[in-house]
Amino acid sequence: MERPKKPKKSSISYWIIALCVFLALQAFVFPRLFQQSVKEVSYDTFISMTEEKNIGAVQIEGSQITFTDKNEKQVYRTGTLDDPEMIQRLYESGAEFQSKIDSTSNPLLQFLISIVLPIVLMILIFRFFSKKMTERMGGSGSMMFGMGKSNAKIYVKSTAGIKFQDVAGEEEAKELLTEIVDFLHKPERYQEIGASMPKGALLVGPPGTGKTLLAKAVAGEADVPFFSISGSEFVEMFVGMGAAKVRDLFQQANEKAPCIVFIDEIDAIGKKRDGGQFGGGNDEREQTLNQLLTEMDGFDGSKGVVILAATNRPEALDPALLRPGRFDRRIPVELPDLEGRIDILKVHAKKIQLVDNVDFSVIARTAAGASGAELANIVNEAALRAVRLGRSRATQEDLMESVEVVIAGYQKKNRVLSNKEKLIVAYHEIGHALVAAMQSHSAPVQKITIIPRTSGALGYTMQVEEDEHYLMTQTEIENKIATLTGGRAAEELVFHEITTGASNDIEKATKMARAMVSRFGMSEEFGMVAMETVQNQYLSSDASLTCSMETQTRIDKKVSEIIQNQYDRAMTMLKSNVAKLDELAKYLYEHETITGEEFMQILNRSGALVQ
Ligand code: ADP
Ligand code: MG
Ligand code: ZN
Repeated sequence: MERPKKPKKSSISYWIIALCVFLALQAFVFPRLFQQSVKEVSYDTFISMTEEKNIGAVQIEGSQITFTDKNEKQVYRTGTLDDPEMIQRLYESGAEFQSKIDSTSNPLLQFLISIVLPIVLMILIFRFFSKKMTERMGGSGSMMFGMGKSNAKIYVKSTAGIKFQDVAGEEEAKELLTEIVDFLHKPERYQEIGASMPKGALLVGPPGTGKTLLAKAVAGEADVPFFSISGSEFVEMFVGMGAAKVRDLFQQANEKAPCIVFIDEIDAIGKKRDGGQFGGGNDEREQTLNQLLTEMDGFDGSKGVVILAATNRPEALDPALLRPGRFDRRIPVELPDLEGRIDILKVHAKKIQLVDNVDFSVIARTAAGASGAELANIVNEAALRAVRLGRSRATQEDLMESVEVVIAGYQKKNRVLSNKEKLIVAYHEIGHALVAAMQSHSAPVQKITIIPRTSGALGYTMQVEEDEHYLMTQTEIENKIATLTGGRAAEELVFHEITTGASNDIEKATKMARAMVSRFGMSEEFGMVAMETVQNQYLSSDASLTCSMETQTRIDKKVSEIIQNQYDRAMTMLKSNVAKLDELAKYLYEHETITGEEFMQILNRSGALVQ
């Protein structure tokens, strides 16, 4: 990796500083040095010394008189008074006297000190701060002149670089990117047949799925220069600077072609232009975007400049960026599936010391929905835990525990629940587990615990799907909602009192029920009508309503109806198996954590469940 060289600091500024120091010394320090041991006396002492003829040299300097005694041993000083006879007296005393033209009244020096010095100082201070500022804004170079420079990092291919093999899963994305790398290496093959490469490719997907990593892998694979810059680095304080940076970047890229330009988090500059309805909009950002669009049109693809960009907000990008001829190839980088998760775990497990008999598939199944970044984190947490426990290798157990850490946070050491609370939590969790176990289409229970976590969970029931689902049936969603309400139902059944502990369950159940009605067309009342649209499929599943207020009221009613129905179902199941509920809850209360096998054993031990 190499950065463009900084221009050398000009030596003129050193000379200016030296001059200032000299002038300051000249004006304030040197004169004082020669005035040691001056004795301040009153004017009448001066008069009496004159009359005693005990006076040597006298110097009148502005408003002060400096004089010595006859033997010139001691220097005295006093202020002048309006004394017309002074000259006469001095003359009579036989003293040597003169009025001095002092250094500060030298007009040239005075001019230098009072006008030139402050100006020079101000210029220096201004330079200092504006440089600090450019540095902070990510600019390089000196002051104004460096502000329009792009500071894209240039990666040169190195053996230590990231390769495609370091990116696990994401096969489709790798395939599409491999083609681009291949084109840069052998353009003739493509030109012969008349194919031209897409000018730009946009990597889209949720955070942490390896978009930046893929781009780095492209840099590692391609034998061409690779410019990498983040969208936010174009955002500048002054209008026009971002555009200048874009221009500079593309100029550099054109010189180095064939090469790859990578703009990470492009949404920072590529957001939709709003037509200025809100007081003119953001001029600076628009100018930067316009410049980018112009530059992308400006060069022809055959030259071999490929632009990669990454974002997790594709819906927010300006449509002009996405039209053919610009970022016309869209490369989805999705959350990994089960296979992908196993592969990612394996890639990262190579970096740590691990015992041999680790079963990654269990961990990958438990970590359903985790992104690549989270999986990397899980492996690292496992290694940290092993060190904490004084082991030299991480084990399966470390990995399992760190999945829970990533999902639910660390175990809380200091929060000790009261016995009563512990019992309520135990019943709550067994309520979930029992309802889950009594329904056919629901994932098996893997673990139940009532050890509080730093995320705020007082306990949880972990269910792990046997295999991956891409579709969910209506029954499955309903079963999930019933399972979620099982906790609260158990509390009410046993303690005739409800607690705040179910808030998270309620939230999840509501989201599911609402999606059933407004997005999945799973209610008879509304049928297949979309009443919500998801804005961003990657950052959150929050949707915005696209229906009238009146319909919203009806949706809300329907949602609470669905949840109530499932709650009633869960309650019935628990009521008819209250003995099992008691037995399991007591067991969990004593053991604090039980595995899915223990749970099933107790469940099957004494008699079948009542359906
Ligand atoms: P983003 O998509 O947000 O740019 P990154 O590329 O920055 O995500 O990924 C963050 C980290 O997660 C990477 O440095 C890597 O350690 C890990 N990671 C993500 N996806 C993968 C993957 N497919 N294979 C291996 N590691 C991955
Ligand atoms: Mg990234
Ligand atoms: Zn719960």
